[in-house]
Amino acid sequence: MAYRITPNLIFPIGNFKNISSGFGEMNVYDKTLWGKHLGIDISAPHDTRVFSAGRGVVVYSRLHPGEFSEDGRVEKRNWGGIVIIAHKKPASKAIFYSLYGHLGKRYVKRGDTIEMGGIIGTIGKAMSESNGAWEEEHLHFGIYTGPYYGKVLPGYYKENGLTEAEYWKEPVSFIKNYNAKNALI
Ligand SMILES: [Zn+2]
Repeated sequence: MAYRITPNLIFPIGNFKNISSGFGEMNVYDKTLWGKHLGIDISAPHDTRVFSAGRGVVVYSRLHPGEFSEDGRVEKRNWGGIVIIAHKKPASKAIFYSLYGHLGKRYVKRGDTIEMGGIIGTIGKAMSESNGAWEEEHLHFGIYTGPYYGKVLPGYYKENGLTEAEYWKEPVSFIKNYNAKNALI
C-alpha cells in the first residue's frame, strides 16, 4: 500500500474540549482494571461527524460489535465501528497511525486515500447491539507510532503483550507538536 505524506494534522471532531477520559488514565470498570488508557475519549452527540486527522490511507475499517448473552447482558464491550488511518511524516518518512473508535457509521474502506478533514464516519449510538457496547457516545481517538500488525490493538495497556504503551502518544500534544515542527518531523 502506498502511503501519503501528511503535512499537518487537525483534531478529528473540531476540538478536544469535551475529553471525558484522558490519555494514560488507569480505568476501572465493572470492578475490572482495564489498565492504562491508550487514547482519549471525546464526548460528542450522536451522529457528530468525525474527520481524518490528516492526509493518509485507510488501513482498517470494520465493525467490532459487542457480545451479548441471551438475557441481554453485555458480555464483551467492543469498538463498534473502528477506522485506522496510516500517515507519513514529511521529513523522516516515518509511518504513524490515527485510530477512531466507537463510530456508528463508517464512510471509508480499507485502501481509500483521504485528505485532512475528510469525513470518515459519525459518532455511534451507545449500547446498541449493532454498534457495540459502551455507555455514553464518544470518540476514542488514538495516535500510534509502533509497527502495524494489521489488526486492532487493545485500547488499554495491561502488560498483555499485544501492544506497548510507549508506542501510543497523547493525541492533543502530538498534533500541536506536529504542526509546530512541520518540516523537521
Ligand atoms: Zn477510550
